[in-house]
Amino acid sequence: MGIIERFIEHPELGKKEYAELLQASESSEGRERLKKEALRLRRLYYGDTVYVRGLIEFTNYCKNDCFYCGIRHGNREAERYRLTKEEILSCCEAGYGLGFRTFVLQGGEDPWFTDGRMEEAVRSIKERYPDCAVTLSIGERSFESYRRLREAGADRYLLRHETASEEHYRKLHPAEMSLSHRKQCLYSLKELGYQVGAGIMVGSPGQTYEELAEDLIFLRELQPQMAGIGPFVPHHSTPFKDEPAGSVDLTLRLLSIIRILLPKVLLPATTALGTMDPLGREKGFAAGANVVMPNLSPAENRKQYELYDNKLCTGAEAAESLADLKKRVEAAGWKLSMERGDAAEEPLQEN
Ligand code: SF4
Repeated sequence: MGIIERFIEHPELGKKEYAELLQASESSEGRERLKKEALRLRRLYYGDTVYVRGLIEFTNYCKNDCFYCGIRHGNREAERYRLTKEEILSCCEAGYGLGFRTFVLQGGEDPWFTDGRMEEAVRSIKERYPDCAVTLSIGERSFESYRRLREAGADRYLLRHETASEEHYRKLHPAEMSLSHRKQCLYSLKELGYQVGAGIMVGSPGQTYEELAEDLIFLRELQPQMAGIGPFVPHHSTPFKDEPAGSVDLTLRLLSIIRILLPKVLLPATTALGTMDPLGREKGFAAGANVVMPNLSPAENRKQYELYDNKLCTGAEAAESLADLKKRVEAAGWKLSMERGDAAEEPLQEN
């Protein structure tokens, strides 16, 4: 039996075998076989549904200096902004009116947003919109901070681990940051009862199949409810400005592999995928993705939240163009759902 069939039957492989699997997925038969199984599982747990989340990028200040990131502290060219609590709430109000039932509050690691300020924002959203899920994506914080925000009502937390390999982590981050701390944060979030999202950039500088194999092992151990998998896209004001972008094809293969590894996972067709390929989103759904996150941030700030060059923030990436997005999702054969869309626990029907 080939490695692909072995993986489909028993997804728990070792590092060498995952690297072999990635190699085997380069062939068109390999890729198609993985896609077919990924779609079978995606339909089993989620039917035709694509969940939609309203993304609110509320601060582009960050104290960190990750080498790949356009809003890193060291980028003096970035025009910085912060939304007030009232501005965040008016994004939610607009989003709620459009039908959104999940708000994702995303920002850099901005010390201005103390636990108290974040608690207030989360509490106000949950008070006004108790039927909505609040997802936070605000980086590494203390256990106590995560605890307070969970108590204030936050339901989910996105914290991409970016790479599970120590050696690779060092190539992407300055010395003061640590992979073990990042992993610890993810385990703390799980312990506190958040629905947790980890994830990686595909094709980040120095990444090999062996490193991706370590990511697969880490994801399997962590068992996150969400996984953000998008191609690396360089930003012109970062140390990685001349590095090549990650491959759409490999991203799609990984989406299928992760759907098989974690069948119940919520897997976005990311904005980076849509930025790299005009049909990236549709291709993502066909590979096993089942979530989209259009942008609900104030239009004037969207350009400023530039994590990488040419990041899409208009058309189907903009929340106010929901009708376009719906059309595109339906044309691709899926149904856009405005429900809050928690991770599945059981198959929809018997296999
Ligand atoms: S990746 Fe996140 S933590 Fe790193 S610099 Fe960018 S916003 Fe800050």
